[in-house]
Amino acid sequence: MASRNISSLLHKIVPDSVVKAYRNYRAENRFYFEVQVAEHCNLNCAGCTHFSSIAKPGFLDAAQYEKDIARLRELFGEDYPFTVRLMGGEPLLYDKLTDLFTVTRKTLPCAEITVVTNGILLPQQKEEFWESCRDNKIRIYVSQYPIRLDYAAIDEKTIEYGLALTDFRDNTHVIFRHNVMDLNGACDPEKSFRKCGLANSCHNLKNGRLFTCSVAAHVHHFTDAFGIDGMEPTERDSIDIYQAQSKEEIIRFLKQPIPFCRFCNVEAATTVDWKRSEGKIEEWT
Ligand code: SF4
Ligand code: SF4
Repeated sequence: MASRNISSLLHKIVPDSVVKAYRNYRAENRFYFEVQVAEHCNLNCAGCTHFSSIAKPGFLDAAQYEKDIARLRELFGEDYPFTVRLMGGEPLLYDKLTDLFTVTRKTLPCAEITVVTNGILLPQQKEEFWESCRDNKIRIYVSQYPIRLDYAAIDEKTIEYGLALTDFRDNTHVIFRHNVMDLNGACDPEKSFRKCGLANSCHNLKNGRLFTCSVAAHVHHFTDAFGIDGMEPTERDSIDIYQAQSKEEIIRFLKQPIPFCRFCNVEAATTVDWKRSEGKIEEWT
């Protein structure tokens, strides 16, 4: 997710109003959402904005996911051009990933569907994986990390199956966003949201609810790992897609600050060199 980390810092150089207008336009015209296929990861980056490096192993509830995307189709319409990112954690750790490809394509036929991976497990994927990517029109996005990948093996398969691949081979120096959580929740939510690179940009679908960002959706890994009380998101921090009556209601909700934004000291966010997590709270504070 490094490239997204960098793009999320654009708000530091582009006026807030321009970033906001762009995100609103995107949310209204090509609704984007991410799905945390695996909670955990096999790379474990410091400061992961999905908290996967400190998450206990776990996978999405596939039956719930199938129901949730059917509900989104009902609200947005069968032909709606969603942008769906199946990610993590590391999605290739999930042994039924191709089932998700199939059900996502079947349910959301006009969606752009991308699997976002760190690439480590790509070369060892079986034929079934590559066939499913082809048959379900799944794009492959290898995020930028300073690790060695067997690109010859990856190229061989993506060329053989005619797949769309995005990757970053020039990866010797990778910088990462260092988000700063305020454990006291003393920040101004409006201000945090306005300045936040993830707000109304990284919508996350989880167990029947949509969140405006990955942080609020997955912060339970952070609070569990470090035994923090009082930071749990409430029902006001996400929207129940079964209670929502229309796509407009969902889009409207995701455009607004949530109470949880008070836990993000966005102005203190910086960029740091990528490194593996040592499981220290300082990586997120
Ligand atoms: S590769 Fe790093 S940033 Fe991406 S999900 Fe894994 S731990 Fe998080
Ligand atoms: S909770 Fe608010 S401020 Fe924090 S990452 Fe999410 S949108 Fe940004």
